[in-house]
Amino acid sequence: MKRVGIIGGGQLAWMMGDAAKKLGVELVVQTPSSDDPAVAIAQDTVLATVDDAISTKILAKKTDVITFENEFVNLESLSFIEHQGVCFRPSLEALTPLLDKYHQRCYLQSLGLPVPQFFALEQAENLGSQIEHLGFPVVLKSRRHGYDGQGTFIIKDLADLQKQLNLNTTTKALSQSLFLIEEFVPFERELAIIAARSVDGEVVTYPVVETQQEQQVCRRVIAPADITPNQAAEIEAIAHTLLNSLEVVGVFGIELFLTTSGKILVNEIAPRTHNSGHFSLDACETSQFEQHLRAVCGLPLGNPALHCVSAVMVNLLGYEISGSDYQSQRQKLAEIPQAFVHWYGKTESRPGRKLGHVTVLLDHRNRDAISTIANNIESIWYPS
Ligand code: ADP
Repeated sequence: MKRVGIIGGGQLAWMMGDAAKKLGVELVVQTPSSDDPAVAIAQDTVLATVDDAISTKILAKKTDVITFENEFVNLESLSFIEHQGVCFRPSLEALTPLLDKYHQRCYLQSLGLPVPQFFALEQAENLGSQIEHLGFPVVLKSRRHGYDGQGTFIIKDLADLQKQLNLNTTTKALSQSLFLIEEFVPFERELAIIAARSVDGEVVTYPVVETQQEQQVCRRVIAPADITPNQAAEIEAIAHTLLNSLEVVGVFGIELFLTTSGKILVNEIAPRTHNSGHFSLDACETSQFEQHLRAVCGLPLGNPALHCVSAVMVNLLGYEISGSDYQSQRQKLAEIPQAFVHWYGKTESRPGRKLGHVTVLLDHRNRDAISTIANNIESIWYPS
């Protein structure tokens, strides 16, 4: 497999650029705008939205295999193309139980994996009695098209729930079936693991990381997470069960909660490379992006191990509407010892938009020192 089509042209596709060069693979992206980050590293581009399956047919003509950088695709229309012999990795069958958050939770539960209590919101009536057994606060989530906390709402009471539902739905009839409600997990920490499965069924996992979110958006990732060997083994086992059950080919990100009593719950599966694995670009023998290309091209998987003692990754999130390229802040960040700055080349900054990230490699696991470095990065990046 020498030519890989990627549906989606954001930073996750962009970060496959160097790995593609290394592996001698050509990338063709399907993305709506020629300003999107991955257009710069692609050999060719199909300018179309990611749910435009007619354009994916054109992408298929230009490539040997098609993969995904985001999950906002229309599986039904893609399945026509798959029946005509186009090779998708991961397969559409593997993606089917995952794209809707409610279906995903049901699937995880059917595998016996631990998940927060949840149910699908089906009708507007009797909201109170539907939620009664969970108790407030609860978490309301859009079943589809949520990302970076868009579509995730922490709800403190019934009035709040009604308000959010009214704000987020246009017609009452349409509204309810679009949401999932789940228990609010008062987690002690959030964790994540990146796992990859090859065409031959080999599964490798990256070190479990700690992720830190603010307002539901990832701010920092620390690799490896400070957890017990048993907890790490449990999370690795979850990854193996999931990837093997789905028989997926490619990289997946799995987000988890660690509760105060030491219990692990699966929050969400991203059927693609994931923000919690960006540290691997600089800190691991094989990055998640190279690993994904290796998997989808049918190559043997690479070594996912860290080549440093630990690493911290900090997202550079937009904080204003601007066309600036933030050159001087990036320069200052690059001067931090062992820092690697990745700038996605987006033409417009908006509050909360992921514009880049910085990873710092470390020769220790001192939590306070790691926090100091992350604080320093954020104080350089965000205006005071
Ligand atoms: P997205 O797909 O938008 O990333 P997530 O389900 O990952 O949505 O939620 C984003 C963040 O919201 C999580 O990382 C976590 O901080 C918080 N969150 C989500 N679900 C829950 C929950 N059930 N209990 C507590 N916090 C939650």
